[in-house]
Amino acid sequence: MIVALVAGVAVNAQPQCSGVGWPPPDLLDSQVTPYWNCNGGDSLQLWNDFQLYRGNQWVGYGYDRPCDMDWPLGRALNGLWMLRHAGTAGFLGSGWWYAQNHLPDNWDQTCGDWTYAARTIFDCTFFWCTTHIEIPMAFAYSEPWLTPAYRAAVVLHETRHVDGYDHDAGDQCADLVSCDSSWQYQGANYMEIRWLADFITSAYYVGSEDIVNRALLIANQHMVRRFEYGTGLRVDRFQGIIRSCEPNCDPPHECPTGEQDCCGDGYSCCRGPNCCEHVYCGG
Ligand SMILES: [Zn+2]
Repeated sequence: MIVALVAGVAVNAQPQCSGVGWPPPDLLDSQVTPYWNCNGGDSLQLWNDFQLYRGNQWVGYGYDRPCDMDWPLGRALNGLWMLRHAGTAGFLGSGWWYAQNHLPDNWDQTCGDWTYAARTIFDCTFFWCTTHIEIPMAFAYSEPWLTPAYRAAVVLHETRHVDGYDHDAGDQCADLVSCDSSWQYQGANYMEIRWLADFITSAYYVGSEDIVNRALLIANQHMVRRFEYGTGLRVDRFQGIIRSCEPNCDPPHECPTGEQDCCGDGYSCCRGPNCCEHVYCGG
């Protein structure tokens, strides 16, 4: 009896997280849940696919109600479902394989400080490193992570970190945090934006146009604010990733004398040795 009582208290206890009335009601997740069968085994499949073996880390965050989208675990699973099933084109198809193969089974749900959606932490000794992903309350409850689609993109973003791609430009971008040097680097922001662009243009399951528009907004925001060297690209609702000048780009021209024509089309001209290193030419 005492054991049962203690277990009951542990499962139902909510962590004391400041910063929001909690748990806030579902706004967008219920637009996605009709696609899948959370109570009928799909959630178990996701649980296994993503190796969330240490289930008790979700205690207090919805462990006893994984299909309740008011709670962090339900929202995490909803995001993982998007990553797994939203579509098959491009990164929609490859993203979840990539995540499944690289993500550690250590996910730690925490309160967090509302400034980040997730982070990858490397615990290293002299001999080896172990990795875990920290998921704060903001992952479920804060803009822009409020949408299941963006949560999927964040998981892919973290996967890129686990695979060895740190933010190589530190604070050298408009956001002053999570900065990658260039699109060419193909870091975490690149992965995130590529997935969002494919989601926006090609997903079978989007939930609603509201979710698509939020994805478009954050993809373009990060395209502009998360790179040290301008990408010259933007995400279009129907065409995906295109040059930011389109549809009003100048016709092809030649680079001024003494400058390199990085992409052979006269648009990306620069001066100096290795100046083309940070220029993306498509493909
Ligand atoms: Zn990052």
